[in-house]
Amino acid sequence: MTVLPRLLLRRCRLVHGSTADELVDIAIEAGHIQAIAPDLAFTATTEIDVGGHLVSPPFVESHIHLDSVLTAGQPRWNQSGTLFEGIDIWRDRKQSLTVEDVQRRALQALRQQAEQGVLYIRSHVDVSEASLTALKALLAVKHQVKDWITLQLVAFPQDGIYSHPDNATHLEEALRLGADAVGGIPHYELTREEGVQSVQHVFDLAERYGRLIDIHCDEIDDDQSRFIEVVAACAQRRGWGSRVTASHTTAMGSYNDAYALKLLGMLQRTAINFVANPLINLTLQGRTDTYPKRRGLTRVKELWQQGLNVSLGHDCIQDPWYSLGTGSMLDVASMAVHACQMTGIQEIAACYDMVTEHGAKTLQIDDDYGLKIGNSANLIVLDATDPCEAIRRRATVRYVISQGQLLLETVPAQVNWNPSGNT
Ligand SMILES: [Zn+2]
Repeated sequence: MTVLPRLLLRRCRLVHGSTADELVDIAIEAGHIQAIAPDLAFTATTEIDVGGHLVSPPFVESHIHLDSVLTAGQPRWNQSGTLFEGIDIWRDRKQSLTVEDVQRRALQALRQQAEQGVLYIRSHVDVSEASLTALKALLAVKHQVKDWITLQLVAFPQDGIYSHPDNATHLEEALRLGADAVGGIPHYELTREEGVQSVQHVFDLAERYGRLIDIHCDEIDDDQSRFIEVVAACAQRRGWGSRVTASHTTAMGSYNDAYALKLLGMLQRTAINFVANPLINLTLQGRTDTYPKRRGLTRVKELWQQGLNVSLGHDCIQDPWYSLGTGSMLDVASMAVHACQMTGIQEIAACYDMVTEHGAKTLQIDDDYGLKIGNSANLIVLDATDPCEAIRRRATVRYVISQGQLLLETVPAQVNWNPSGNT
C-alpha cells in the first residue's frame, strides 16, 4: 500500500483569498487538505515554500477531443480551415485508428495539459464507427491515469445519429461500455426535424443509463440554428438542469437580439452549463462572411452576466480542425478575455473562473473541488500573484499537486542580461 506523504505548503496566496496580502499555509495529509491557516505547526515529510505565489485549484479542461489530438496534417492539412473540411479529413484519418495510436497521442496530450496545471478533463470521443476503437482506447487510458488526472468521456456521434442506420446502435453501445456522458450534434443531422429528434434521443439515453449530457449544439453561424431551445426545453421538462451541457452554441452570436433576450430568460430557468471554445470558435466560424466578419462565439459575457455557468475548452490541439494549441488553459482564458471583450477587472477574473471552478460545475465534480479543508488535495502553484496576472503573462505552473502528492515541478525560464550590453 502506498503511504501518502504529509505535505506542507508555506506562504500561499489563495486565488480567492480574503485579502491580497494574507498568506497562509496548507497542510496535506492522506491525500486531503487538513488545514489552511497562517503559520501552521505541522510535521511534514515534504515542505515547499511557495513564497507568496498564487495557489489555485487545478485547471479544468471542459471540452477536448483526445481521439483526434496531435493528428494535424494526417493524411492532409485542412486548407480551407472550415469545420466541414475538418470533418472530411477526420473521416479519412479515423480509418487508420488503432488502440495504440489513440492511447499514445491521448497520453501525450494529457501529460502536456497536466504540466500546465490541468487535472480534470472532459473529452468527447467519436463513436460513429462500429469498432468503437477510440472509445475502447480512451476507456483504458482513463483507468491508466486515474491516480493523477480525472478523465470524463462523452460518447459523441460525430457523423450524426441518423446519417447512418447503425449510428444510434453505436452510441448506445458506447454507454454500455462505460462512457460518462451522452453527446449529440443536432445541427449536423439532415433535417431540422431529425435534429430535434436527436436531442430527445440523447435525453432518453441519458435517463436510461443514468449519464450526463453534453451536446455539440448549434456549432454554426446560421442564425436559424436553434437547437439550444430544444436542449433547454428538454432539460427543464425532465428536470435535468446542471447535468446538461450545451457546447459551442456559436449560432447564439448571430441570433437577433429579440430572440436572444427571450432565450436568455428561458435559459436562466434551466441552469444548464455552457462551454465555449474560443480558440476554435474564432477560427472555424465566420468563414463564409466577407466583412463585417462575425466573431463566431456564443454570448459568453451575457450568459455569465445572467448567472449561467460558462466554462471554456480547447476543443482541439493539433488536429484536422486546428493545427495549433498548447494545452494551456491560460491561453484559452486569454482568448476569451479578448474575443468576448471581457477586459474589465472582474471580467478577467471571471474568465479565470471559467477554466477552474466553472469547469468543475460543468463536469459535476464541484463537491470535492476547491481549496477547502476536507477536499482532495488537488492544487497548483502559479508564478503569479493574482488571476489577472496569471492570464496576462500565461504564468508558469510551478507545482502541480494531485491527490496529495507532488506530481511535478517546473522551473521558470530565467533571462540573464549581458552586463556589458548597451542598455
Ligand atoms: Zn467539440
